[in-house]
Amino acid sequence: MAKLSGKPDCCWVADAPKTDFPELVGAQECDAAIVGAGIVGLTTALSLLEAGKAVIVLEARQVGRQVTGRSSAKITAQHSLIYRYLIDTAGHEIALAYAEANRRGVATIREWIETLQIDCDLEPKSAFTYTCDPRTYAGMWVMTV
Ligand SMILES: Cc1cc2nc3c(=O)[nH]c(=O)nc-3n(C[C@H](O)[C@H](O)[C@H](O)COP(=O)(O)OP(=O)(O)OC[C@H]3O[C@@H](n4cnc5c(N)ncnc54)[C@H](O)[C@@H]3O)c2cc1C
Repeated sequence: MAKLSGKPDCCWVADAPKTDFPELVGAQECDAAIVGAGIVGLTTALSLLEAGKAVIVLEARQVGRQVTGRSSAKITAQHSLIYRYLIDTAGHEIALAYAEANRRGVATIREWIETLQIDCDLEPKSAFTYTCDPRTYAGMWVMTV
């Protein structure tokens, strides 16, 4: 079982070593400058790097310590009743496109964890959406990733 640090902070970031990347000095050339080194900025940066682009990531604080570092750390294509909502408001095609984009996102993160050997204790688990209100039960999608 994981041992918690006892520090009054989120367990993911409480023990993580601080990053000390150099300050940006002077003018630099790149294809894309990304502001923010959370999961969104870093995912974008890595995708652009894989496409052969030169990327600079600008972070005002610490890498991965803001919302990303304080999330539940769950990677999933299932988000509550989003598919019910999308089918009702935008139709099956859009709901399927959203599901496919989510599945691809999950697959890409898994691939990066493997190929970059990221030591993050990723564990595959089943995911369930359930309700305590039978009125919202009809038509619910339950997916596992
Ligand atoms: C409690 C909680 C639990 C969650 N659980 C999950 C989960 O289990 N699974 C999931 O997929 N999502 C989860 N989410 C949502 C997810 O965490 C966020 O959608 C995601 O982390 C946002 O990432 P981000 O890169 O946009 O933001 P951040 O991680 O906040 O990164 C933005 C970065 O930009 C930097 N920045 C901002 N302005 C500037 C500037 N002007 N110059 C330089 N740098 C700047 C900040 O310092 C920060 O580091 C959760 C969210 C919360 C609040």
